[in-house]
Amino acid sequence: MLIMAHDLEGRAAAALREWAERWGERWQWTAKKGAVELQISQRMTRGLGKCMPEQRVIRLNHVLLDEVNAALLRETWCHELAHQVVFDRYGTGSPPHGRLWGDLMRAAGFEPRVRIPMEQVVGLPKVSRGRGYQYLHQCTGCGKQFVTQRTDRRWRCAACRATGGEGRLIRFRKSA
Ligand SMILES: [Zn+2]
Ligand SMILES: [Zn+2]
Repeated sequence: MLIMAHDLEGRAAAALREWAERWGERWQWTAKKGAVELQISQRMTRGLGKCMPEQRVIRLNHVLLDEVNAALLRETWCHELAHQVVFDRYGTGSPPHGRLWGDLMRAAGFEPRVRIPMEQVVGLPKVSRGRGYQYLHQCTGCGKQFVTQRTDRRWRCAACRATGGEGRLIRFRKSA
């Protein structure tokens, strides 16, 4: 299997290639469809990895290269490669974290988990909680809506409170 990793110094690239080889054997995946390009992203702030299977590109967050995150680097690399394998075998139709993907993770020795809790990752920029999200609030009384960058359970609809109503709000989180 061919892994291209231009952004990586020799040692880290060698380790990532070696793991990929090992998993590739277990998966009987030879990347016949072409090399996979590994890119290291300095700009990724939220995710740890991203697979763009059609372009055959996998992007990993540079914080994973920190020695302390070694285990997570391994898991994330495997996670993203497994996406590529599912795509190579079944095309775009299959769900990203479905059974096929989970089976590959297990075969590589990982419990398939869709997300790695961010507090386990050392060195991620300390973005304030809620950044990158917006919250849509809707009053259950009058239906008024408003969108904010942060939210608070105690907030109530001012108009309804003013007229003696409860002013309870339901919240939806959405990506900014
Ligand atoms: Zn995924
Ligand atoms: Zn209201």
